[in-house]
Amino acid sequence: MSEPKKPQAPAAGGRASTKKELPEHFKAYKHVWVFIEQERGQVHPVSWELMGEGRKLADKLKVELAAVVLGAEGETVRGAVAEAFCYGADLVYVAADPVLADYRNEAYTAAMTELVNTYKPEILLLGATTLGRDLAGAVATTLLTGLTADSTELDVDADGSLAATRPTFGGSLLCTIYTLNYRPQMATVRPRVMAMPERVEKPVGRVVEHKLSLQEADIVTKILSFLPDRDSSKSNLAYADVVVAGGMGLGSPENFQLVRQLAAAMGAEFGCSRPLVQKGWVTSDRQIGQTGKTIRPRLYIAAGISGAIQHRVGVEGADLIVAINTDKNAPIMDFAHVGIVTDAIRFLPMLTEAFKRRLSPHSRDKLAS
Ligand SMILES: Cc1cc2nc3c(=O)[nH]c(=O)nc-3n(C[C@H](O)[C@H](O)[C@H](O)COP(=O)(O)OP(=O)(O)OC[C@H]3O[C@@H](n4cnc5c(N)ncnc54)[C@H](O)[C@@H]3O)c2cc1C
Repeated sequence: MSEPKKPQAPAAGGRASTKKELPEHFKAYKHVWVFIEQERGQVHPVSWELMGEGRKLADKLKVELAAVVLGAEGETVRGAVAEAFCYGADLVYVAADPVLADYRNEAYTAAMTELVNTYKPEILLLGATTLGRDLAGAVATTLLTGLTADSTELDVDADGSLAATRPTFGGSLLCTIYTLNYRPQMATVRPRVMAMPERVEKPVGRVVEHKLSLQEADIVTKILSFLPDRDSSKSNLAYADVVVAGGMGLGSPENFQLVRQLAAAMGAEFGCSRPLVQKGWVTSDRQIGQTGKTIRPRLYIAAGISGAIQHRVGVEGADLIVAINTDKNAPIMDFAHVGIVTDAIRFLPMLTEAFKRRLSPHSRDKLAS
C-alpha cells in the first residue's frame, strides 16, 4: 500500500522564486480568526477544535487569536462568546443582529465580509460542515481570496504564510496549498480532523461588538418556518466514543446486520466503507473515510475492511483500532493496534454474545457516553 506522501518544504527555486510581494493594502491584515458556528442554540464542536489549531497558528505568528460569533442577540450568542474564551480566544468579535437569527448565506456572507474588511484578519478558519462550507465558499468568492477546503493539516511556513494541507488525487497524495497574494488566507477543516483542545474555565475577556450596516430589507431570502430533519440525529459517528464498522469482506447486506448487532450490544455507533454505500447496503451518513465521516473514537472495530488509504484517513485518529480480517497482510494491519486474523462472519456473533454477557445495560450506556 502506498502511503500518502508528505509534501516537502518548498525548495528555494520552487515556490520561493514565484512568491510575489504581498500587495501593500494587504500588509495591515493581522491575526487568526475562527468562525464559531452555532445554530438553534448549539455551537458546533468543530469550532472549538479549530480554536485549538488557531491557537497554534497564532502563537507561531505571534499574533492574536480571535473568535467570530454571529447571531441574534441572546443567550446563545452570549454563551458562545463566554465559551470562546475558555477555548483560548484572546478576543471575540460579535455581530449580534436580528438579521442573523437563522443562518442565511446572504446575510452571513455580508456580515462576515464586513467584519473582515473592517478588522482585517490574515487567516480565517471555518468548519467544513454543511453551513461552514456554504459560508466559506461565498465569503472567499466575495473577498476574491483563496480557500483550501477540507484541510487535514494547518501550519505556517518560514515566511509566515498559511500552509494548508489536504488530500488530492483520490487521497494518494497530500498537497499543501498557499494563498500568497491575497488576504485573508482561508481554510475549512472537517469535524474531528483536529483534536479537541482542553477547555479551561476563564472569565469573559475582550469583546469587540460590531454594529452591522446590514438591513433585513437587503436580504432576499426569508425564513418562513423551520422543519427539523427527522434523520439529522440518526448518525452521530463523528463524535462517537465507540464505532463498529463493516466492509466488503462481510459479503452481503444480511451479514452487515452482524455489525449493527455488535454495535447495539456495545452501545456503539455503526459505520461502513464506501463500497457498501455504493451498493446501497448502508446509507451514506454511515460512510467512514475521506469522502465520508472522519471519526476519533476511543475504540474502532473494523470487520472485513481492507484499510485503503481513503478509509484510513478517516479513522487514524482513533485511540484503539481493532481489525478483523481473514488476510494478515491486509493494509489495515499496518495501522491497527490489534489485528484478529479470522472470518468476521463467524467471529462477530461470538463477540456480540460475549459483550451481551459482560455488559449490563448500565455499563453499555456508560461505554457509549
Ligand atoms: C476518490 C475516492 C474516495 C474514496 N473514499 C472512500 C471513503 O471515504 N471511505 C472508504 O471506505 N473508501 C473510500 N474509497 C474506496 C477505497 O479506495 C476502497 O476501495 C474501499 O475502502 C474498500 O472497501 P473495503 O475495505 O470494504 O473492501 P475491500 O478492499 O474489497 O476489502 C475487503 C476486505 O475484507 C477482507 N475479508 C474478506 N472476507 C472476509 C471475512 N469473511 N472476514 C473478514 N475479512 C474478510 C479482505 O481480506 C479484504 O481485506 C474511495 C476511493 C476513491 C477513489
